[in-house]
Amino acid sequence: MLRIQNYINGQLVAPQSGRYLDNIEPATGHVYGEIPDSEAAEVAAAVLAATSALPAWRALSAEERGRLLVRIAALIDANLERLARAESQDNGKPLSLARAMDIPRAASNFHFFGTAAEHFASEAHMQEGVALNYTVRHPIGVVGCISPWNLPLYLFTWKIAPALAVGCCVVAKPSEITPATAFLLSELCIEAGLPPGVLNIVHGTGPACGQAIVEHPGIKAISFTGGTATGRHLARTAAPLFKKLSLELGGKNPNLVFADCDLAAAVATSIRSSFANQGQICLCGSRIFIERPIYDAFKAEFLQQLEAQKIGDPLAADTKQGALVSEAHLNKVLDYIKLAHEEGGHLLAGGQRVAVPGRCASGYFLEPTVFENLPHDCRTNQEEIFGPVVTLTPFDTEAEAVAWANSTDYGLSASIWTSNLTRAHRVAQSLHSGIVWVNTWLHRDLRTPFGGMKNSGVGREGGLEALRFFTEAQNVCVKF
Ligand code: NAD
Repeated sequence: MLRIQNYINGQLVAPQSGRYLDNIEPATGHVYGEIPDSEAAEVAAAVLAATSALPAWRALSAEERGRLLVRIAALIDANLERLARAESQDNGKPLSLARAMDIPRAASNFHFFGTAAEHFASEAHMQEGVALNYTVRHPIGVVGCISPWNLPLYLFTWKIAPALAVGCCVVAKPSEITPATAFLLSELCIEAGLPPGVLNIVHGTGPACGQAIVEHPGIKAISFTGGTATGRHLARTAAPLFKKLSLELGGKNPNLVFADCDLAAAVATSIRSSFANQGQICLCGSRIFIERPIYDAFKAEFLQQLEAQKIGDPLAADTKQGALVSEAHLNKVLDYIKLAHEEGGHLLAGGQRVAVPGRCASGYFLEPTVFENLPHDCRTNQEEIFGPVVTLTPFDTEAEAVAWANSTDYGLSASIWTSNLTRAHRVAQSLHSGIVWVNTWLHRDLRTPFGGMKNSGVGREGGLEALRFFTEAQNVCVKF
């Protein structure tokens, strides 16, 4: 049994109440560990530690802080296999995916922001002969970072690293559904020599532990990634306390496939954007709009390539589809499949829970599922399912495709497939999405602004945006 502990003031500690939550392995359905059921008392201790550590941490140069973050990055790299196995066991994702994407990206986050802080500069505004204004960017103080279960270490470090880089101290909470790699990270931070209190990791549920972070008056900013309903609740709590908020929320992303695209590339990448991580990536494209002349060809090729998506034990080398993260989430996705049938959808593939023989017999596995014949405005095509379920829909004009793509409350990402450069630019700029990919998907450059429009979020992460979020601008005006 893996007994996880909180990381507070540089120490690994048990929750004061002595209470723990079960940690379930999605691939087996069995309890394999315990998670501290932390509450306001643990959060208060973490904020106290962070507040005490703040003066010395912010007084270090960006280079000194950066050197520590780069050391953590190197330790993540050195522990790649151990972290990837832990992520796979905790989340249900294929080990191969954790090894190729989640853990390397967590190391990159620390490396990128560890070095980025050295290149962070502020502006000066000269009023010739009259005055000089210059902007100072102060670390905002103690900040809260709250992350979801789908890309556990990847998203956790995406928030923590920029906050630490600019001189903030952090109280962070991973999802209670996938806490394992955050716990291993606390061990690596101790090994790296991160000063006590600079980063504190408290484990527990959203309503008890997360809520206490959002409400704590000593926490000046909250960086949150998770569901739109939770984000709305957080905003309601944090706004009257005048906390700075970054909200990365849900998505219902479209793929727009035009007849002049490279069909083979469009299909292969659409398989990935539909089903990578069992469709549990906020950026997954779940509504695939295909120009009518190539609809049948795209559909045939898509269904054929789907057959190679082997479902199995996440630890097996040839597994492409692991388990969904929890039984509750599996049931939610199955309810959406039922809804898609009720709304008149024609099932092209999948739709059933899968029994994987052997140790995974009770795991939460689901076939990759494809529907067609659903209108763009039905619930299946409007609500975030966050699982391996996509719809195929033919369109006749560019205007129709853009209107349908923009027809949801969400606006996180979109993919356009075309060989017409003029159209690519035109369509990209008419989409209400924070991130638009052309002839690719999930191609990331950590310097770019990352975030959603509409109900997909408020604010942007990434590059300078993240460094600005965790700092407070102060203008100093000097009269000549
Ligand atoms: P969730 O909103 O249920 O939980 C996210 C985190 O918030 C967890 O750590 C949870 O414990 C915490 N939380 C819950 N209630 C809270 C409260 N009252 N106060 C403070 N914290 C609270 O989301 P989830 O189910 O873990 O993740 C899936 C969702 O995340 C999907 O909607 C997905 O689209 C979204 N997501 C968005 C992005 C993005 O970058 N936009 C990335 C990944 C996932």
